[in-house]
Amino acid sequence: MSIDFVANPVEEIYGESCFNDATMKARLPKNIYKALKTVQAGDGELTLEIAEVVASAMKDWAIERGATHYTHWFQPLTGLTAEKHDSFISPSSDGTVIMEFSGKELTQGEPDASSFPSGGLRATFEARGYTAWDINSPAFLKQDNSGLTLCIPTGFVSYTGEALDKKVPLLRSMEALNKQAMRILKVLGNTTSKKVTSSVGPEQEYFLVDKELYLQRSDLKLTGRALFGTMSAKGQEMDDHYFGAIKERVADFMRELNYELWRLGISAKTQHNEVAPNQFEIAPIFSSSNVASDSNQLVMEMLKKVADRHDLVCLLHEKPFAGVNGSGKHNNWSMATDDGINLLNPGDTPQDNAQFMVFLSAIIKAVDVYAPILKMSASSASNDHRLGANEAPPAIISIFLGTQLKEIMDCLAAGKPVPSMGGELIELGASHLPKLPKDNTDRNRTSPFAFTGNRFEFRMVGSSQSLGGPNVVINTAVADVLGEFADKLEKASDVKAEIQKLVKETYKAHDRIVFNGNGYSDEWVVEAEKRGLPNLKNAVVSIPQLISDLSIKLFEKHKVFTKGELESRYEVYLEDYCLRLNIEAGVTAEMAERLIFPAVSAYTSELASSVADQKALGLKVPAQEAQVKALSEGMEGLLKAVADLKAANEKTLAIEEDSLKKATSYLETVIPAMAKVRSFADGLEKITDKFAWPYPSYEDLLFTM
Ligand code: ADP
Ligand code: MG
Repeated sequence: MSIDFVANPVEEIYGESCFNDATMKARLPKNIYKALKTVQAGDGELTLEIAEVVASAMKDWAIERGATHYTHWFQPLTGLTAEKHDSFISPSSDGTVIMEFSGKELTQGEPDASSFPSGGLRATFEARGYTAWDINSPAFLKQDNSGLTLCIPTGFVSYTGEALDKKVPLLRSMEALNKQAMRILKVLGNTTSKKVTSSVGPEQEYFLVDKELYLQRSDLKLTGRALFGTMSAKGQEMDDHYFGAIKERVADFMRELNYELWRLGISAKTQHNEVAPNQFEIAPIFSSSNVASDSNQLVMEMLKKVADRHDLVCLLHEKPFAGVNGSGKHNNWSMATDDGINLLNPGDTPQDNAQFMVFLSAIIKAVDVYAPILKMSASSASNDHRLGANEAPPAIISIFLGTQLKEIMDCLAAGKPVPSMGGELIELGASHLPKLPKDNTDRNRTSPFAFTGNRFEFRMVGSSQSLGGPNVVINTAVADVLGEFADKLEKASDVKAEIQKLVKETYKAHDRIVFNGNGYSDEWVVEAEKRGLPNLKNAVVSIPQLISDLSIKLFEKHKVFTKGELESRYEVYLEDYCLRLNIEAGVTAEMAERLIFPAVSAYTSELASSVADQKALGLKVPAQEAQVKALSEGMEGLLKAVADLKAANEKTLAIEEDSLKKATSYLETVIPAMAKVRSFADGLEKITDKFAWPYPSYEDLLFTM
């Protein structure tokens, strides 16, 4: 598709496939529009009357653009999105149809829920689930070969109201944060703000590979990552790809991607090459957490769809190529009021500084106390390959504050004057703080949770993950500490003095979580252990954090999850872990036995005959003989390793009673067995005829574009 931005100016196409605020304003009667805005702000109930009018306007808008169907679009625990299309048609007795869409159809749906994971929440006899409209996330039109569909972003709950998706808890956590943050603002004397909303700006990393090559690799097709292969001679050590000129084929893809995203009203803003060859990043401008999360799902979907049109495949796996940089989704997080105050902005006045310090302290404490749950929220079988692998944040949670802010906090906690502020003693609510740098000069790229001037960047999140999980934890953890602070401040006779005390005490108690150094270094692992910080190295030890007492208490208190909902997620995530590893183990064995072994065997026998021929002529060929021997030994090792892998997988599959036990068995026996098969295969790849190798190599995949 050739996109002409002269014929289709960006200002005109932007949001054309999205039932956004401007469209609603233009199409809804004034009173209904106003009522809807009130409901959106959280100040009123959605009545059936409002819903009827909005549904009708939405339908007309969609039909004018060619839509024939609508769907409730939701995010089950698979991490993907789901939809069930219904057409607008309503037959009349005279054989004609009219197009209908009622308020009830807009606000509530009843998809067949039985095929989505629920972790036991939904007994099979009660498979019903409901979807409910998220009134704050705009409806949009989705085009595919089946036509144009109106998509209504929804939450997905069971018959009895338990969350079955990634969105409902996110909305609940945003509400918890709003409630507690508003209490703080009130004590601080803010009389104008009515609502606090968390925002997210995700930086999405991904790989592109040529489709034809991709199709020749069953590991990429079935597991999303290369289960075999070694880095070519030209590795990524040159780092010449990063911020390098974007290749024409990719540029073409990006242009179309932007076009599609802009039409959906998604503010794709930056795009660039990433560290690894054929790795890229796209970042939209931040928005409220629920909208950002929905948009990110669409971004991931569009990445795949547009790539396909360009004969490319987009890999969202966190580590498609071992030995090559992995992909994350940096989660830039902040909170702001409805009247535009970013609560993580240090500000210019002493009052703003005091406010900033309260919110900053709450975050520091929240991250320290709830570190295990935060780590859990970014854990998965695929992200395990990334976290702690010396190129992504370590598995240890810590906070980076930057030199200046750390100095200020250290001095404040110690009651000492701040040297870089000319020896000033900081009195919160009375002192001016220096301007903190917002540029790249004081950036630490190795920290999992970094302050970047007016927001925090949580860098553990994996490229394929929904933003829902991590942001539920950040929002709820911060809400919890803000609530605790509010309890104290509301009772204080001298609020300023109480703030000073609170900030000081909090920092003293939790400064162990602050680390400005190199998070990738081995020394940090040792140091973190000394500080008592948890180091949850993999998903199997992380997932159980979901049902720890700490977690249950936190989420129940703020009505984000019930114990039952947490237990169900625990089951679903462990099941997902086991399923993925079972597939990886199967594909590893299959490729080794049916592709690699036959190819190497044929090549070896050719080489062996050649050696025999040469020897018959009286030639001495010890090097070639050694090569045959190495190939032969490699094949023996490979087949033996495959047998061991199969045995380990069988044994693991037989564990039925306990999913944690099963996942542990995958971690401890199947993963090492797979690694062994791979090491033999990769060893063989290095000494086998390149043209005899049965599928495209790393070099083909990473340097073809
Ligand atoms: P960098 O690569 O330097 O970290 P980018 O510009 O690539 O930064 O991405 C930064 C992301 O952070 C963008 O999505 C941006 O919109 C988002 N962002 C900026 N300010 C905020 C904020 N206050 N809250 C949340 N996200 C923000
Ligand atoms: Mg970043």
